[in-house]
Amino acid sequence: MGREHLIDDKNRVVVALDYPTAKEAINLAEQLDPKDCRLKVGKELFTREGPAVVETLRNKGFDIFLDLKFHDIPNTTAAACAAAADLGVWMINVHALGGRRMMEAARNAVDKSNQQPLLIGVTILTSMAAGDLLEIGLTDQPVNEVARLAGLAKNSGLDGLVCSAHEATSMRSRFGSDFILVTPGIRPAGVEKGDQRRTMTPIEALNSGASYLVIGRPISCADNPVKALKNIVVELGL
Ligand code: C5P
Repeated sequence: MGREHLIDDKNRVVVALDYPTAKEAINLAEQLDPKDCRLKVGKELFTREGPAVVETLRNKGFDIFLDLKFHDIPNTTAAACAAAADLGVWMINVHALGGRRMMEAARNAVDKSNQQPLLIGVTILTSMAAGDLLEIGLTDQPVNEVARLAGLAKNSGLDGLVCSAHEATSMRSRFGSDFILVTPGIRPAGVEKGDQRRTMTPIEALNSGASYLVIGRPISCADNPVKALKNIVVELGL
């Protein structure tokens, strides 16, 4: 179902709620308009606050990307995906390193669920350099490992991938227009990069083929998060 979902989707920004408490996450969400953005709930917030925070944010009208990056045996991953789907979230993800059978099991679980969230893959974490990969037995260059796992994710039936905006152009031409590309590492011009290294501006990422832009600190740490989001939405011109 996810594929039709993307066509003429004007809501391309996913605000990362990287907070330790529901209070802080909800405080930011209450300032934002669900017509302008979706929200990403990750491991820290979910582990501390559980499904209740997802429900609260959904009740405020937001689509939720539940970024828990499942990676386990196929049966357990499928059950976790089914549980996440039952929370009524918009998007979930798994590690492509879990392999084809794990991703296919996740696909089947999502297809059987009532809510059918988008199912996205993560290839190689951007925190891992060639030396880190070598230590775990992945001997190819990171760019080649990413390409291989991306193909495996696509062939296993996933709806798309999390990738760097710098990889979006090649992923887009390789996998076509209906494959979803979710890109973090976005920094509007003139905004602090923080720990991100290879960033792109929102419009550059969109023009490179990104479907959805994950943006955290440029919005959450802005003096005026509402204005920061509005500026990005205007820049995207959707
Ligand atoms: O604050 P910032 O915009 O850097 O937040 C980016 C979000 O995207 C964070 O939640 C981060 O964990 C996530 N992310 C990332 N790089 C990846 C995958 C996820 O920055 N490769």
